[in-house]
Amino acid sequence: MLVYDLHSHTTRSDGYLSPEALLAVAADRGVSALAITDHDMPCFPSMVNHPAVQVIAGTELSCVWSRQTIHVVGLNMTVSEPISDHCAEIQQARVRRAEEIARRLEKLGMTRALAGALEESGNEQIGRPHFARWMVKQGHVKDMRAAFKRYLGAGKIGDIKSEWPALAKAIEVIVQSGGIPVLAHPKQYQMTNTKLKALITDFVAAGGKALEVCNGFQPRDQVEYLARLTQDADLLASAGSDFHGPEAPYHFPGGYTALPGNVRPVWSLWE
Ligand code: AMP
Ligand code: MN
Ligand code: MN
Ligand code: MN
Repeated sequence: MLVYDLHSHTTRSDGYLSPEALLAVAADRGVSALAITDHDMPCFPSMVNHPAVQVIAGTELSCVWSRQTIHVVGLNMTVSEPISDHCAEIQQARVRRAEEIARRLEKLGMTRALAGALEESGNEQIGRPHFARWMVKQGHVKDMRAAFKRYLGAGKIGDIKSEWPALAKAIEVIVQSGGIPVLAHPKQYQMTNTKLKALITDFVAAGGKALEVCNGFQPRDQVEYLARLTQDADLLASAGSDFHGPEAPYHFPGGYTALPGNVRPVWSLWE
């Protein structure tokens, strides 16, 4: 039986480890099938490998629904134009967005924010966490959490969503690439249950196939609630650590609250 982790990040987006290093840590942790789901950036099995870990094609696409940022994980895509073109566009959008975030932070007196964040990104993909890391190093905030709470999180000055495509578009490119769209961490959006159900209805109508029932060490009651929503909507269930690096040790590869037995795992589609 394979041990799955279908949500993880590397230096290709906002993770701290290279894909090779991530695979080594995953293998150490007993993970035998890993999806590397970098933000707006596909990772295919042809790109990286490890003798003990099967790589499942993956990505995590940023999009917007009801003026809120939503993440859709794509699994098992083939190397193809819809996903490659989409992600190439989003990378350009991320640069424009970073320039706007930097302009806003500079107005608050945080000079050289763009150069600092780019340096943190290692000149790979740029995102809000890179601004947050730079702000911590500069002493503008005490930790990443404070950076998001004060400047970068939902509704704050650095939260710019105008560059993201609509939810239906993100689902469409995953489907067109032969992949499985998974609604990532549904409990992280801080929605009322009524709103979350409306999101799931639209997600299904647009071609969504699975809910991420387990994301890291979520409380058991949340996982059980999401399992019920999965059954009610006749969807599949996914599970992943959302590991970004050793700096977030409670999300180690393979680390997530166990998937309840009353849902059909998304991997039943390919096993
Ligand atoms: P972006 O892709 O630029 O929109 O940034 C989103 C990423 O920021 C998420 O994938 C998380 O990794 C990270 N993030 C979001 N909220 C927080 C937070 N409160 N503290 C630390 N990191 C966060
Ligand atoms: Mn992230
Ligand atoms: Mn996410
Ligand atoms: Mn993620």
